[in-house]
Amino acid sequence: MAGIGPKRAAALEARGIATAGDLIFHLPARYQDWRERSSAEALRVGNIVVVEGELGKISERPMRGSRWRRLASGWLNVGGRQIRVVWFNLPAYMRGYLPGGERVLVRGRVAAATDDGIEIVQPELHRLSEGEPKGIRPVYRLPSIVGQRLFAGLVSRTLAEMDESIGGAIPDDIRGETLTIREALGYLHDPPADADFDALANGESRGHLALAFDELFAFELALSIERLRSARRAGIALDGSQSLSAKMLKELPFALTGSQSRAIDEITTDLARANQMNRMLMGDVGSGKTIVAFWAMIRAIECGHQAAMMAPTELLAEQHWRGFARMCGRLGVRHALLTGSVTGAARSQTLRGLASGEIGAVFGTHALIQDAVRMRGLALGVIDEQHRFGVFDRARMKALGPKANLLMMTATPIPRSLAMSLFANLDVSFLDELPAGRTPIATRIYTEDDLAQVHESLRAEIDGGGRAYYVVPFIDGDEDEAKSVAATAARLKKGALRDARIGAMHGRMSAAEKDRVMREFRDGALDLLVCTTVVEVGIDVPEATIIVVVAAERYGLAQLHQLRGRVGRGDKASRCCIVASGDADETALERLATMRECTTGAAVADADLRLRGPGDLLGARQTGALPLKFVHLIRDHRTIERARKLADDWLARDPSLASRESEGARAAVRKMLAYGFSLGDVG
Ligand code: ADP
Ligand code: MG
Repeated sequence: MAGIGPKRAAALEARGIATAGDLIFHLPARYQDWRERSSAEALRVGNIVVVEGELGKISERPMRGSRWRRLASGWLNVGGRQIRVVWFNLPAYMRGYLPGGERVLVRGRVAAATDDGIEIVQPELHRLSEGEPKGIRPVYRLPSIVGQRLFAGLVSRTLAEMDESIGGAIPDDIRGETLTIREALGYLHDPPADADFDALANGESRGHLALAFDELFAFELALSIERLRSARRAGIALDGSQSLSAKMLKELPFALTGSQSRAIDEITTDLARANQMNRMLMGDVGSGKTIVAFWAMIRAIECGHQAAMMAPTELLAEQHWRGFARMCGRLGVRHALLTGSVTGAARSQTLRGLASGEIGAVFGTHALIQDAVRMRGLALGVIDEQHRFGVFDRARMKALGPKANLLMMTATPIPRSLAMSLFANLDVSFLDELPAGRTPIATRIYTEDDLAQVHESLRAEIDGGGRAYYVVPFIDGDEDEAKSVAATAARLKKGALRDARIGAMHGRMSAAEKDRVMREFRDGALDLLVCTTVVEVGIDVPEATIIVVVAAERYGLAQLHQLRGRVGRGDKASRCCIVASGDADETALERLATMRECTTGAAVADADLRLRGPGDLLGARQTGALPLKFVHLIRDHRTIERARKLADDWLARDPSLASRESEGARAAVRKMLAYGFSLGDVG
């Protein structure tokens, strides 16, 4: 990198800033407003101020206890009032230059000095002899040896040099009001004096939005192109007669919901085509996704092929395997379980059965996609809780059967329109109703003071024959003894729930132990399960009618909704007791209170959008897995649809992106496709 020495260049490179491109896209982390000088009244402790004054001589002396640090201090005369200014670490731009009697601007936080006066510690300084300062000054996150001013200068030079060559994805023809990438970067690195400071500070300025929109445009283009491509990929047409699948439906102990039937119709048509199916099945917790997946697996098997279902935890994989045996066992399909705990002879037997094709349906965890596994004829791969898996997992699943159809399932509560845009490369089926006979789960918010009352409810429920979950945040006492699984179980046993049969479960138990406890709970040998959030995904015990979640403020709304979904799975009325810790603040309580009104995943998602709380809408992991650097799914959720429409319009005009105007789009799409998509890329 030109203009800086090798040491600084190396430090920047260590932060991922190696090329001119990296440099200009390293956006300011914060901004400082230097536009207004603070009045004398604003000089109150705690305020961040910009004050003009005359700076007396600065003296330096060694700091006690530090061999190399020197304390620098001086007095600033602000309209007759003396304010002490102190630096523990003299900024590079002041080294060797210690003014005396000069008019300066000083920016920093006012603190109380030991002698009753006020002081500003480690302020920024601007000499007025150099003219007025820049109104809004960017602050970058940088290695300590690279100064802010040096970096800003570097960026400004690089922007000027690269100028015309900085292009975006959106063709000029359809850009409208949106800034170009060059303009957006200029705006962000060197905001105009009249810029909206709050918007800049909150990452909502015109510049930020333009970068995000350009990226979204490229993303949506890539999704559409990917969708067209995969539609052309050869698959296995599953169009044999419905001998087993019809029988399976007939023997179900319940009638399908309307949307389950619709999803099954959509999948039937899709599977019958000679092209690969890439479908996402979205439905709220408890909407009955599993049975739809079982049906599709049977469909693959009756057509003479194999089917596999992968789940994120052993517990869930085992539950599916057992559920399949219960619901489809009589159909005479050979099925097997393959998880990390299946070892030795059982494992080799399963591997043989999969390779020979004798086993029709296999259920498992990551163990399914490990090297040793070969399948003779995989025609359908199902991925449950798909958002828990990464792009490479999905690719490996595909590798088990290169022509296989893929069905992904998720309860990620995102608004439907957002889902359609985010999964634009997939076909989506929605389960938007719950099975009949479900009574809504009554949700109440408590604080720790109410625990006795909560325990009373638990006891009543258990006395009435119900089963209960009790979710705590910790496994052992390292963090907070009282909120650990063991301590809680012991306390309940001694106190309110003396007569209940109490079990404990957490993520550090072996799979076999977890399995045993879970089975006891499912079969009714346990009344109460004290556990960590290991029960969160997918666990299905219809007899459970009450769940208590303590320290609930620790969880996002979506996660709470998942936890709540462990009950209300049968026809009995269920309850969810959300208990906030004693030190939870107002905001946290308010956030929790929304769980009372929001009974569906969609409502929870909307509340999340409204609150913009910890933004667990898609979960950090998920967002991180998208090739989107500047998009903020919550901030931009309305823009996503607009970007999709713009992308589709442009593709209609220039389907192969061959025109000159599409040059930028072409480059951006290539980059996106090379990265791969976590949300359902199946390349
Ligand atoms: P999820 O969509 O959260 O994965 P599941 O597939 O685990 O939900 O289904 C939740 C419960 O509802 C299961 O016990 C399942 O057997 C039951 N179920 C599914 N479909 C129906 C239906 N149409 N009528 C009644 N119960 C159903
Ligand atoms: Mg499920």
